[in-house]
Amino acid sequence: MSTIHLLDESTIDKIAAGEVIERPASVVKELVENAIDAGADRIYVDITEGGIRQIRVTDNGRGIDADSVALAFLRHATSKIKDADELQSIISLGFRGEALASIAAVSKVELITKTHDSDTGMRIEIEGGRQVALESAGAPEGTSVTVRQLFYNVPVRRKFLKTPMTEAIHVHETVERLAMSHPEIAFRFVTNGQEKLVTGGTGDLRETLMRIYGPTIGRHMLSVHAQKQGIVLDGLTGSPAVSRGNRAQEAFFVNHRIVRSQLLEKALEEAYKGYTMQHRFPICALYLDIAPDRVDINIHPTKSEVRFTNTADVRELIIAAVREVLAGGGLVEQVSVPEPVGQTERAVRMPAGKKAETPKTNAPKEEKLGFFMEQMRDRVQTYHAKESASQTAERAVREEKEAGEQLALFKEEASDDRAGRSYRLLGQLFGTYWLVESDQTLYIVDQHAAHEKILYEETLAALKERRHTSQLVTPPLVIRLTARQEQVLNSYREEFIRLGYEIEPFGDKAVALTAVPANLYSLSEESLFTEILDRAQEEINSRATPDMIRERIASLSCKAAVKGNTAVDEKQMDALLKRLFSLENPYHCPHGRPTMIAMTRAELDKKFKRII
Ligand code: ADP
Ligand code: MG
Repeated sequence: MSTIHLLDESTIDKIAAGEVIERPASVVKELVENAIDAGADRIYVDITEGGIRQIRVTDNGRGIDADSVALAFLRHATSKIKDADELQSIISLGFRGEALASIAAVSKVELITKTHDSDTGMRIEIEGGRQVALESAGAPEGTSVTVRQLFYNVPVRRKFLKTPMTEAIHVHETVERLAMSHPEIAFRFVTNGQEKLVTGGTGDLRETLMRIYGPTIGRHMLSVHAQKQGIVLDGLTGSPAVSRGNRAQEAFFVNHRIVRSQLLEKALEEAYKGYTMQHRFPICALYLDIAPDRVDINIHPTKSEVRFTNTADVRELIIAAVREVLAGGGLVEQVSVPEPVGQTERAVRMPAGKKAETPKTNAPKEEKLGFFMEQMRDRVQTYHAKESASQTAERAVREEKEAGEQLALFKEEASDDRAGRSYRLLGQLFGTYWLVESDQTLYIVDQHAAHEKILYEETLAALKERRHTSQLVTPPLVIRLTARQEQVLNSYREEFIRLGYEIEPFGDKAVALTAVPANLYSLSEESLFTEILDRAQEEINSRATPDMIRERIASLSCKAAVKGNTAVDEKQMDALLKRLFSLENPYHCPHGRPTMIAMTRAELDKKFKRII
């Protein structure tokens, strides 16, 4: 016989908390949303040990009245709905009045707040749902909530938390989305004392995205604006040149709340069909404004799932609007378009501390090449782990030859038999550009960007197909790692090995590289290695895949490409163009500059008034 018990209140609270609060990132999301609702225009998020030890969210919003402070922590306490009449329009925005109660049930919370009208602030402390302090306190206007020891009283849930680093990454991603949801709010995110994200709060979405994804992607975002049946769509969507290996950068917002929706993802990807390769996903930040009674954001306790009443309209709106943008010159920079991609954005400041992706080297080319040859001759023995001695020797010869060809600027042999587009090379301009006729269009190709693009794609293909080779480094290169680099290396060790690295432990916080990938061109082994580590760490935010790491390596490798005004003869250019035109997306170099601009015959005819 089993007896039925009534659960006590604290148990009920803990169970309810489990629905809303899954991990530190969910706490941050709730607290920041409250700050947004309170009209803040500056929000500061600071976490320690992935937020497991401590989360603090500080805002400059309107604060909480002294006599409401304790009420805010009661379940179903909200200032945002008063009665059932308001329910329909407001509950759909996601107010449930239980976030603070839930958080306080499973952690130690301190809230300090002050409104504009009161002379002093209030401070309240709650531990595991129990109020332990309530007093007046000096405070600036706004609210600061500190959450310590999350799940300290729910060991099962605590056990399910991941490492602090992983939890920090989830928080970071959440803050990025929150910052995107409100470009007009200035966000600052700090983890373990390290500043990870700062947004300007200027209201400029492109600038916000640049802060999050970097300037290259920021420059490649195309504006979307459309409306249909009272639904307004706005935002930025990436040119196919900046696609990703997963959906992590597809960001959707409904009425400025973060949402997840398969409907939206599917519609977006449908629009990109034919523009991106298979298994590549767009980057976007798209905003839908819909009357509250036609959308339900509240079907899930964490409010992240969304349901629309008019799914077909939403779907069609996205597909049509995004397609139109992609078809309208997102790929090739059209000469006649008054504001071509890449020019309108030039005025946007690059975020401080981000360096340009292709730093100019002043070293004359010969000097760099000489150094490279020396490297090849003296300290590098080319080999491949699973080869016989004779194969190894053959490969060494082949690779030295290949490297030689690399130095000769362009490989002259026809690269492959992929069906490329047919074209006619007309000649060179200013020692930098090439004029090409193809398919009723005049293309002006930037030889430097084109070469970079080809090296990039080829390196990437080689890495993907594991056609990599290693070169021994003697003596081994000893590299000191930061704790974070070490952590990243541990997570991606396999990938590094696949790329051709051989890594030995070397005392405390250092490793010795005994072999590195052979196709580094003239890059320094050490800087490439650490740059990949740092990059991987950054990109763990977007769940770094082996693809991303490979892309990074390819992008670094192709920096060895020729500089803009090097003379290239016609034969070399012809070989280069053949390879360029056989690429899936020949239009942008990996650093985001266009490889070519285009003017169609119709445009020329128009300019000469042959047609009107
Ligand atoms: P909800 O946001 O659904 O109303 P919460 O439990 O998240 O429920 O918050 C309860 C109430 O506490 C809010 O309705 C609001 O009045 C108040 N509140 C919470 N955080 C803040 C904040 N940062 N600034 C001002 N008021 C806040
Ligand atoms: Mg709330």
